[in-house]
Parts: sequence; C-alpha cells; structure tokens
Amino acid sequence: MFRIALPRKRPVLLLVTLVLALGFLGTTLVSYQVSRQAIRDSILTQELPLTSDTVYSEILKDLVRPIYVASMMGNDTFLRDWTLSGEHDKTQVTRYLAEIMARYGAFTSFFVSAATHNYYHPSGVLKQISALEPRDLWYFRVRGMKEPYEINVDQDMANHDLLTIFINYRVLDYQGRYLGVAGVGLTVEAVRTAIAKYQERFDRRISFVDAQGRILLSADHGQRETNIHFMEGLRDQAPALLGTKNGSYEYESGGQTHLLNVRYIPELKWFLFVDKTEDRALAGIRRTLYVNLAVCLAVTFLVVCITGMVLTRYQNRVEEMATTDKLTGLLNRQTLDVLFQQAISLAQRAGEPLAVLLADIDYFKAVNDRHGHLAGDGALKCVAACLRQNLRASDTVCRWGGEEFLMILKNCDAQAGRALAEKLRQAVEADAELRALTPDGVTLSFGVAQLSAGETEENLVGRADKALYEAKLAGRNRVCVAD
Ligand code: GH3
Ligand code: MG
Ligand code: MG
Repeated sequence: MFRIALPRKRPVLLLVTLVLALGFLGTTLVSYQVSRQAIRDSILTQELPLTSDTVYSEILKDLVRPIYVASMMGNDTFLRDWTLSGEHDKTQVTRYLAEIMARYGAFTSFFVSAATHNYYHPSGVLKQISALEPRDLWYFRVRGMKEPYEINVDQDMANHDLLTIFINYRVLDYQGRYLGVAGVGLTVEAVRTAIAKYQERFDRRISFVDAQGRILLSADHGQRETNIHFMEGLRDQAPALLGTKNGSYEYESGGQTHLLNVRYIPELKWFLFVDKTEDRALAGIRRTLYVNLAVCLAVTFLVVCITGMVLTRYQNRVEEMATTDKLTGLLNRQTLDVLFQQAISLAQRAGEPLAVLLADIDYFKAVNDRHGHLAGDGALKCVAACLRQNLRASDTVCRWGGEEFLMILKNCDAQAGRALAEKLRQAVEADAELRALTPDGVTLSFGVAQLSAGETEENLVGRADKALYEAKLAGRNRVCVAD
C-alpha cells in the first residue's frame, strides 16, 4: 500500500510570509536609510553651508559698515583733541555725534569719556557712567579690553530700550593711552527681519551666538534658552562647537534630530548657526516609506493568499490521489486500477486463473433511511472489515463505489470464487457487529467472474456486474457467477 505524506499548509504559509516580510522589510528599510543618509548629507554639506554663506554676506552688509564708522571715530583727531583739551564745549561733541549718525545712517552714536564718565549722545549728555550700575558694565569691560573694539547687543536706554547692536570702539590718544569709548549702534530689528525672511524662505533656523555661547540674535523673540550651554541636545556639544570655528553637527532636541551648520564670523566674533530639523526634510521620503511598506504588506498578503489557495488545491489533488478510502480504509478505485492491471498481466503470463467478486449491499438506501447516515457509514466500515478478515492477504479488496466492493482473487477460478463469495456472504449475514448496528442485519449480493483469455479489465468487471445484477434480481443475498 502506498502512502503520500501531505505537506502541512500552515508552516509553509508561515515560511512564505516570513521570507517575504523579511525581504521586503529589509530592502525597504535599507533604501530608506540610504535616501535618508543622502538627504542628510546634502543638507549638511550643501544646503546649510549655502544658507550660511548667503546670510553671512547679507548680515555683513549691515554690520561691517558700522564697524568702519566706529573705527573712524576711534581714530578721529577732533574727538581725541577735544577730549584731551578738557571736554569744554559739549555742543561740539554732540554736533559731531549727530553728524556721524546722520551721515552714516546709524541708529545711534555715542562717546563715553574716561576722564569725566560722561555719556555723550547726539542730543547731549545722556548720563554719567557708573561702575555700580549694572547697565553700564559694558563700558568697564571695554575699558579693560585688549582688542580695539567689540560688538555688543544691548538695550539702548537713549532709544526706549530698543535692542541694539553697538560697536564699542576704544579711543586712544596719540601715545596709545585710553580716552574712552566711541561708536555707533544699529537696531537689531533690521537684522532680525532679514533672518526671519531667510528662515521662512528656506525652512531653517538662523541665529547668532557669541563666544560664550549666548544666543544674541534669532528670529524668534521668545527664544526659550539664551545660551547654547543650556539648550537640550546642544549642551554636551557646546564646548566643541564653540572651539572649532566651522563645522556640521547633529543633535537631538524635543524628540527631533537637528542638523546644524556653524560658521564663525571673524568680523563680528560671532558664530552663525543654521539649524534644520531632519524630520521636516525627511517628510517626503517618510511618506514614500509608508507607501512602500503598505505595498509590501499588500503584496505579501496577496502572495500568501495565492500560495494558500494553490496549496489547498494541491492538497485536494493529493488527497484525491491518495490510495485508501477514508471511511473504510480499503484501497480506493484509483489505486485498484493499477493493481488490477498488474494482476491481470501476471495471471495471463503465468497462465493462472483470476477471479473477481463484485459485492453490493442489499437495500442500503433503506439502512440509511431507517437508521441514519452515520449508522450507514458504520455498516460500510463493518462490511469492509468483515470482507478483509475473510480474505487472504494476497487478495485485493477495494471500495468500488458507494456500497460496492470489488475483490481480485489471484490464482482462483470461478468455482473457488463462488465458494469464497458464499463464505463472505454468510460471514456478513452473521456479523454480530452489523446486527448490533441494524437489527435486521445487512446482506450482500455477489457477482463472480473469471478472467478469460485476452479479456480486458472493463470486460471482466462488466461481466461480474451483470452477475451481480442477476443476484439482485433473483432476490438478493446470494451469489451469481457469470458464464
Ligand atoms: P440494492 O442495491 O439492493 O438494489 O438497493 P440499494 O438501496 O443498495 O440501492 P443503491 O445501490 O442504488 O443505493 C446505494 C445507497 O448507498 C445510496 C446511497 O445513499 C448510499 N451510500 C453510498 N455511499 C454511502 C456512504 O459512504 N455512506 C452511507 N451512509 N451511505 C452511502
Ligand atoms: Mg449499489
Ligand atoms: Mg445496494
């Protein structure tokens, strides 16, 4: 008896799902990572430095001129002479300051004398500088400074405390002795507007940071932190950032990855920060990623469905091709065909007789009707077992149809076939189990036929069937032999 092992469906489908999911997920994620890296590289090496260049040249236009004006004031002979000669006529210096302011379009201009601590302004003496006044600390810082000038972003008390960029230039006499501080101021608003414009146009944040890490200028007035040393994500990198003059950095803040370009502006002694959040830059490819994942999911689903369907059909085919009948455990008709051919050619070659028995249960419809289909199935099983028990191992028995059984008896002629059929008929009639199932018992009718020379399988079975029909006609529960 053959046995075909059916492939189990679920592990196969699981494997297919796994392979597809891993393959798709792998390639999708790798390509996402590659695109992401390409975008980041282009942001870090091109976009941000380009913005930095543009902003730098733009801001320089606004800031460099005031620095030159202040340096001119610091080296002005009139201012030095007037200060050295005792600061007598104050209208002279205020007129000078007013002239500077008007001629160069400065927002404000000033001179603070070291000798008198007077703060001169185009409109007169504004006040006296005091070391105790926190707002005047800048002056004492500049007084002790080594460099010729500084840029200081501060509130201008002469102009309603507007935030102003001051160029504080040290004024020295002809021997290099310190005389005071002169300079101009320009409003931060102009710079801030320019920054805001860039930010909006290029979708990135621009700010200026001094050597101490203080954020001096940025478009958003409500800057949360005023020093990068206190900013989330930048805190740890701040020293390195301010130590090297130019560079590209990455940091995490507010759950987002920021890409940052830092550029030192020597003229201002400031750092220009151009910052872009990676998330917004990646929004496009992230959308693509989700679409890809959805497509992969759909394809995986489809492939698994198709595989499942194919497997089911294949399994059904295999089951069809299976060798035994499920209910009775006997060989099925397809298998018997093969064995039948072999038996016939063997018998013909050996010159031995061969007989077939065709048995059909009598009034089986009535058994089903009276006792139910399950009992009918039970009766079929019992009959099959009874036949099997009463046959030799070398005899072949199969379930030929619903309640029909075909037996091939090797080396057996019609007479021996009839005797065996009679034995089987009695065995079934007397079967205790069958009697328990169906009180009236179950009987079989038999048709017997012996293979004649050169006869085909069809013909042989046809003759047995005819004999069986005769047995039925003659009253059932009997054996008839074909002539
Ligand atoms: P007879 O052969 O004596 O002429 O009468 P019958 O009632 O046996 O007539 P027939 O051969 O036409 O009916 C066969 C019945 O067997 C019909 C069908 O419902 C039933 N049958 C076929 N296969 C099965 C099966 O696997 N299980 C059950 N319970 N019944 C089956
Ligand atoms: Mg029948
Ligand atoms: Mg029948």
